[in-house]
Amino acid sequence: MSVGRGVTCKKLTVDCALQFDMDRFRRDVNPDCASTGYTEWKDSGAKIGWDVNPPCRLRLYYTVTKRDGQQTNHDYLVDLDYTRLYFGGKRWWFFCPNQDCRRRCRILYMAPGSDYFLCRVCQNLTYRSQQAGPDPFKKLLRKYYAEALSKMLRGGRR
Ligand SMILES: [Zn+2]
Repeated sequence: MSVGRGVTCKKLTVDCALQFDMDRFRRDVNPDCASTGYTEWKDSGAKIGWDVNPPCRLRLYYTVTKRDGQQTNHDYLVDLDYTRLYFGGKRWWFFCPNQDCRRRCRILYMAPGSDYFLCRVCQNLTYRSQQAGPDPFKKLLRKYYAEALSKMLRGGRR
């Protein structure tokens, strides 16, 4: 249904990851009630569709368009959790959809080069490089840092 353009970001930093923020989501959505809608990131033009399936389930679907124009459809479930607040109401959480992780978090990130919304640890690309086996993006990132470093070194002594 909903089609997104995915992430277009030239710098490979965590700052330019798309952030799917529970606090922002909760402004419009009550996860206790079934609903359908979309979330849009105006600055990047990205847009994802979602269905809330109580209890505690969110379905995300979107299309990622790579720079070469290749499109991939994604459709997967994100489990939700809540903690009861002392003065009533609920505080909602995402479970990281990476089944090896399942970390509870307030924000899911889609980093450049990734096709999924995952927790910060799964998307934190500057360390924890032992995760998830070979990943072409990490290779690219390493190359990027190597280049940046060599540029820095080159520029350093004049
Ligand atoms: Zn995770």
